[in-house]
Amino acid sequence: MTVFRSLCLPSVLLLVFTVNAQQPAAPAAPADNPFFTKSPLPYEAPPFDQIRLEHYAPAFAEGMRLQLAEIAAITALPGTPTFADTIEAIERSGALLSRVSAVFFAMTQAHTNDALQAIQRDVAPKLAAHRDAIMLDPALFRRVASLFERRDQLSLDAEQHAVLDRYHRDFVRAGAQLDAPTQQKLRELNQELSKLTTEFQRLLLAANKEGAVVVDDVVQLAGLSDAEREAAAAAAKERKLEGKWLLSLRNTTQQPQLASLQDRALRERLLAAAVARGVGGANATTPLLPRIAELRAERAKLLGFATHADYVLDDQMAKTPDRAKKLLTDLVPAATARARAEAAKMQAIVDKLQQPFPLGPHDWQFYAEQVRKAEFDLDSEQLKPYFALDRVLQDGVFFMAKELYGLEFRPRTDLPLHHPDAQVFEVFEAGKPLALFYVDFFQRDSKAGGAWMNSFVQPSLLLGKRPVVCNTCNFQKPVAGQPALLSLDDVSTLFHEFGHALHGLLSEVRYPRLSGTSVPRDFVELPSQFHEHWATEPAMLQRYARHWQTGEVIPAALIEKIRAMRTFDQGYATTEYLASALLDLAWHTLPAGSVPQDVEAFEKQTLEAAGVALATVPPRYRSTYFRHVWGGGYAAGYYAYMWAEVLDQDAFAFVLLNGGMTKQNGQRFREMILSRGGIGDAAAMYRAYRGADPVIEPLLKARGLLGPGK
Ligand SMILES: [Zn+2]
Repeated sequence: MTVFRSLCLPSVLLLVFTVNAQQPAAPAAPADNPFFTKSPLPYEAPPFDQIRLEHYAPAFAEGMRLQLAEIAAITALPGTPTFADTIEAIERSGALLSRVSAVFFAMTQAHTNDALQAIQRDVAPKLAAHRDAIMLDPALFRRVASLFERRDQLSLDAEQHAVLDRYHRDFVRAGAQLDAPTQQKLRELNQELSKLTTEFQRLLLAANKEGAVVVDDVVQLAGLSDAEREAAAAAAKERKLEGKWLLSLRNTTQQPQLASLQDRALRERLLAAAVARGVGGANATTPLLPRIAELRAERAKLLGFATHADYVLDDQMAKTPDRAKKLLTDLVPAATARARAEAAKMQAIVDKLQQPFPLGPHDWQFYAEQVRKAEFDLDSEQLKPYFALDRVLQDGVFFMAKELYGLEFRPRTDLPLHHPDAQVFEVFEAGKPLALFYVDFFQRDSKAGGAWMNSFVQPSLLLGKRPVVCNTCNFQKPVAGQPALLSLDDVSTLFHEFGHALHGLLSEVRYPRLSGTSVPRDFVELPSQFHEHWATEPAMLQRYARHWQTGEVIPAALIEKIRAMRTFDQGYATTEYLASALLDLAWHTLPAGSVPQDVEAFEKQTLEAAGVALATVPPRYRSTYFRHVWGGGYAAGYYAYMWAEVLDQDAFAFVLLNGGMTKQNGQRFREMILSRGGIGDAAAMYRAYRGADPVIEPLLKARGLLGPGK
């Protein structure tokens, strides 16, 4: 089962130079600001116990000042530029800025507050200006261009070639070749964009929080499990709403509680609250969206592209918006036909009720559950007792990492954490310490929606830095004394984000600019989605899916049902995804000067034109709360999940044909994909790994989109 994750990577890597390098300690450094010196902790882990709010702004200011001084030292060098004195020197610059950025932007996603948001509002445009100061520095670009022109005479190895090429493209794409007045215009556009996208994130977090549904009478919660009811009571209590219940919103349109809430009016209220986020009121995002789209289109035009999507896709596997769009639109007929067939089955159940009604989007998940029970004799709630979080983590994802890559994870209790819910593990291979892996699993108001992976330390052989990686999720926090019990969807999320983590943990790349997950967006979801597949392999389920109270292994009959229903409800899942992905492309293929102001009208018209405007299947994200594209780094990039799924379905089918979960299969994936970061061209890397270009049939099969029937 493939589901589309929310925001898999944070939007924080807006700096090209996310590099840490050995740095002479700044003499002016306040003694107590932990960012000013290299962390003394193992792996240079962030000293969270030392970091205070007032440390961020001075660290950003000094970090930017130091990096500009480092760049000035590079451009002042006499003589012909060399790879070492220019590219490697750039890679070594900005150590302090990298340290503070990695922690700060992780916290603005995972554990923010008003004060942190205020700093973010102040610092985001400054960072945009800082980036422009470097990328539009004519002397620096002359050095990079000089190296690029002489690249074949420099005796560079493949990795050095790749990083030089990457830098040259980074500079050109940032506008380094444009004249000074155009560059000035670019700077202004980047300033305004950084403010608006930061503002979008702030408004959305507030809208999410405000959108939570308060329930006065527990009777309305009929259908929820005891644990869910208790969690809702605890959430209400946290907001000083004693004696009430609070249903917090996940970032997607559909909300998990809709599958079990029996009270139709409450279901309607919950979905309406989700859909209304960002529309009107104090937290409206609608005024921002056309402006952001327009600014992006104008920037693309200055850079020589027809639209923002053309600009973005030029640097991705897909290369053009048309190729991305074709993949999506080709799937529309089969996906919507299947969604309509799914709806018809549910309507048939509803029609037998005493008071039938036309199925609404808020009814979908509830009646999908009824169909699931009828067809597979399986209630999703039946599975949860077998998916205790700690067991899924230890015997599921960590076991997978052991079998495929020989990795072991041992808890470290001596390292400071950014939140009491977080944990950290040290990663070993054959007894050799490799990396640190943090996890932060539970939902809270200070955390953005979705799930993602981020790096606290970007790995680099050049700089002697090992990976320090974190996975953040939004699982429901259990009440005291009980384990967190996951849904099957949550389990997939865990494997997915862990796949991103492995991409960081197993990086063996010299240059930080290309290490870990520094690959095209439409390739970065390959490692994550590839590892998702293992979650529902029977041998894996037998290993990690044990009843939390009795220890009983999940019965074979349940495993069969999980396998049998993998294509269940995929018409819905595929259609809601396609709607959002097409919406994203529609906003970003508008040329400058043609962006409409009426967000809802544009959305409606786009979905209708694309044939995905099904009344019962709203987009997975409506424009107003589509964080990936307005507040994150997935603008014109949400298609990437499906693009990468062509690869991961193809790769997984290949692995199953060749022995499944073996060391050999792990080794191949690790050596040819996971360890290589962005050293190679993504399409070529995949072809080398697979021995052929990918084909789409495994994806169609996995989603039940091959021909009629299930
Ligand atoms: Zn992902």
